[in-house]
Amino acid sequence: MKYIDPHIHMVSRVTDDYARMARAGCVALTEPAFWAGFDRRSAEGFYDYFRQLTQVEPKRAKAYGIRHFSWLCINPKEAEDVVLAREVIALIPEFLEAANVLGIGEIGLNKNSRNELTVLEEQIALAADYNQLILVHTPHLEDKLKGTKLIIDAIKRNGRIDPGRVLIDHVEEHTVEVVLDEGFWAGMTLYPETKCTPERAVDILEMYGNERLWMNSAGDWGNSDPLAVPKACLEMARRGHTASDIEKVSYHNPLSFLGQCPKFDVDA
Ligand SMILES: [Zn+2]
Repeated sequence: MKYIDPHIHMVSRVTDDYARMARAGCVALTEPAFWAGFDRRSAEGFYDYFRQLTQVEPKRAKAYGIRHFSWLCINPKEAEDVVLAREVIALIPEFLEAANVLGIGEIGLNKNSRNELTVLEEQIALAADYNQLILVHTPHLEDKLKGTKLIIDAIKRNGRIDPGRVLIDHVEEHTVEVVLDEGFWAGMTLYPETKCTPERAVDILEMYGNERLWMNSAGDWGNSDPLAVPKACLEMARRGHTASDIEKVSYHNPLSFLGQCPKFDVDA
């Protein structure tokens, strides 16, 4: 089987993870810009992070036959300081020209604060100005539903964004429906304990169907599993889902969404 992990933070994973993912059938992955486990002190810290995402990780991945793509932004966890956030946003256009950059992400909200919302709106405008795809992070706290609705409202308010070019990630049972109903794509994050376990993700697929949905590991510096997508595929098979249904969610759906950016090509 071949699959795409459309959301994983390889800068915080060891090289052996690339080897294990390749053996499990991973042909491509996409890495959104996010928090690194600590707050960076200046825009220069982000400049170097963007170099890592656009220049270093693609080479690391290539050694294992995996295509590496990335998304750029100031993430919501570090967006409370609006001055710093604007300095980081000003760096992004130069990096959008990099061969592996698919769009703006993962933008969104963390604590649903006013400053986070300001920075989110400015990055939605950036995506519209440069005709970029958007990858959205939704809060993991108890107000995930409220945060998801605030984000959807902000995107609609912009007025220049096609919802079919936005993926709203980390959906759960109580947020998936509003995301799909509004015409967006939805991502299910497979975490060992929080967010969706593979079992819960397959439950959601069985309840809501497999259109405009994908699964990702969101592997990062914390408790996470870079092989979560193939494990969810095994859970689908155990429950009797067909091979073509499994391939639709783990390969063809990511291909359809990401392929809206002409730079995304898994065969090159
Ligand atoms: Zn992430």
